[in-house]
Amino acid sequence: MKTTCCEFEPHSLSATTKSEPLAVLAARTACALDRAVERHVLACDQNLGHLETQAAHDAQELLRATVERGAQAKADATPPLCPVCGKQLTRLSPGHARTFTSRFGAVTIRRTRGYCKACRKWRLPADAALGLEETAGYSPGVQAMAALLASKMPIEDASTVLEHLTGIALPRATLDREAKRQGERAQQLRDKLDQQAATEKRQLELTLEPYQMIIQLDAWNIRERDGWGQSAALRRAGEEPERWHWVYTGTCFRLDQRGQTAGGRPVISERGFVATRAGLDALREQMHAEALRRGLGQAAGALVIGDGGVWIWRLADDRWPQARQRLDFYHAVQHLVVVGHALFGEDKDKLKSWLRPLVRQLKNESAVKVIRQLEEVMPTLPEGATGAAVAREVNYFREHRNRMAYRAARRAGEPIGSGSVEATCRQYQCRFKRPGQFWSREGDEALMCLETFWRNDRWHLLFPHTAFNPARN
Ligand SMILES: [Zn+2]
Repeated sequence: MKTTCCEFEPHSLSATTKSEPLAVLAARTACALDRAVERHVLACDQNLGHLETQAAHDAQELLRATVERGAQAKADATPPLCPVCGKQLTRLSPGHARTFTSRFGAVTIRRTRGYCKACRKWRLPADAALGLEETAGYSPGVQAMAALLASKMPIEDASTVLEHLTGIALPRATLDREAKRQGERAQQLRDKLDQQAATEKRQLELTLEPYQMIIQLDAWNIRERDGWGQSAALRRAGEEPERWHWVYTGTCFRLDQRGQTAGGRPVISERGFVATRAGLDALREQMHAEALRRGLGQAAGALVIGDGGVWIWRLADDRWPQARQRLDFYHAVQHLVVVGHALFGEDKDKLKSWLRPLVRQLKNESAVKVIRQLEEVMPTLPEGATGAAVAREVNYFREHRNRMAYRAARRAGEPIGSGSVEATCRQYQCRFKRPGQFWSREGDEALMCLETFWRNDRWHLLFPHTAFNPARN
């Protein structure tokens, strides 16, 4: 039996749909879909994937027309008020056309323009109501997709993946520009949220058990294209062009939100992230705001863990003077290995049997005992490089003695290493430190900011529609 509704002609839809009610277009689409199903049944070389592709194609015009009509109706209903200051606009003129790319294809609308005397600017209030940015040619849906893809993968891949999944063709340069624009918007929002976090009086949440706030800091470097094309000139002037720059990275979590998988791997149910190329002051303020949002204000105490970089302790002393500090355990062990090499050279067996009890002691007993043993070794060494190397490491252990309370840490169920932030750095590097990659200072900070919004589960603050549940609308 043939089930078709042949009063509707298929295809060449867009030319005829401008004035057609959506119901008619929907019926036409349904017919096209019916035919797609019939063809699918007969085509023995097509699997369900073929039908999925066909159905998305056939329904596209209905969806595009829906978005276009919705956009036009909302533009028409938008009162002529300045979207910035709220004042009545004057010298109104209707009919200003704008075409932009939506998830379902190109959309054209006409809006009213007016002059705001207070701002002394021409305004198009409909654009603000629709979430269209001043100059970009994309709907909020496409803006969010471009931002997400560009923060997750190289631009050339992002452009291809976007077209493959959605059919939206954004050339690389355009996608790059759009993602940067969104990243700049993300930075503005981040600054605003950080200020709020630092100033607002938090409602004291009732906490059943006192908890510790763990803050871990680390850094990695990124390559930028600064002084590009000027290398020769810089070198002639006696300056080596600096291309590698620090990205300061941090993570924070409540100790009571850290647990273990069945396999014994530590997992953290809620974590805050920070990554910035804007220097230590920026890291300090961003990390502080993030820790406040995650409950630093209500914590019974705080603990800063790092790999020994001097900047980490300076920053901690400055911003969280009350917090305890801990040197990453594995980093401390590396310093014992250095001493071992100085003592035993390449004799791995001797090194191992010397090292093993010391590592155990450092972990289970106290750093003081380890230091004492190193001090005992020192007078037996001949003067020279070996003695100097051991003396340097002994000083290192003395300096960090109070940051090595590993036994107490393990009893309290606290981390003894900075593995969480190291993993975070690694994850950022997978996107931002690929072979052959060069960044601009503005570009890397913008895209890292997007990535951090995503990781912190705040994407919806940038793109509110992504948290919208249409099933409940
Ligand atoms: Zn205004």
